Amino acid sequence: MTEPPSGAGLRRATAIDGDMLSCWLCRGPVVVQALFCHHCGAVQANRDLDHFTRLGQDRRFDIDLDLLHRHYDRLQRALDPLRFVAKGIGEQTKARQQLEISQEAYDILRDPIRRARYLLGLLGIDLPEVVAAQAGSAPIELPALRLALGRAQDPAAIDRVANQAAHEVESCICEMAAAFRAERYQAAATCLGRLESLEEIAFEARTRRSASTAPGPSWTGGPNNVKLDGVVD
Ligand SMILES: [Zn+2]
Repeated sequence: MTEPPSGAGLRRATAIDGDMLSCWLCRGPVVVQALFCHHCGAVQANRDLDHFTRLGQDRRFDIDLDLLHRHYDRLQRALDPLRFVAKGIGEQTKARQQLEISQEAYDILRDPIRRARYLLGLLGIDLPEVVAAQAGSAPIELPALRLALGRAQDPAAIDRVANQAAHEVESCICEMAAAFRAERYQAAATCLGRLESLEEIAFEARTRRSASTAPGPSWTGGPNNVKLDGVVD
């Protein structure tokens, strides 16, 4: 059987039974999540899977990051372009597309904020709508942190704001995880809105911090005699 000329043809794979599709190459039955055909071994075309399913996770906020990483690592090895050098362009293209979408899924799921945003999207929660409904009742820490950052004049003061923002991010993620566990998705979305504001503050603090230390007086020893952490050339 010859390969369809483009990836578009592969989407014509027909549903056989529930979650089963037919292999583009041998037409044998293949489960929808399968990377490879169980019969002929051909890498399958990218399916319309959510990121959790793609990476073998339950669709929830609390995921085991070690398991996630191990699953992704196996995918990366299975889809290594070097394994497809001797295959046709069709299999090479499918493997590359599977690898790209797996990388995107992994980057989203390993980051708690991106994972929460993605999961709320799957659950049909409109984040901007929730945030707009909360406008005017922002938790007190946000304006206080913004004010403190605006007033911070030196690196130590900026660091204090950055540390406070990091602490708030941590506690907000815990609160959001508890809301997801209790299936209180509006509350989870509210936490996510706060997290996004806190991230903005942390980003601004980092930007100001790096600008303030660019040619700082204690870092100007020259390229050959910079002293860091007590290490002397
Ligand atoms: Zn096959």
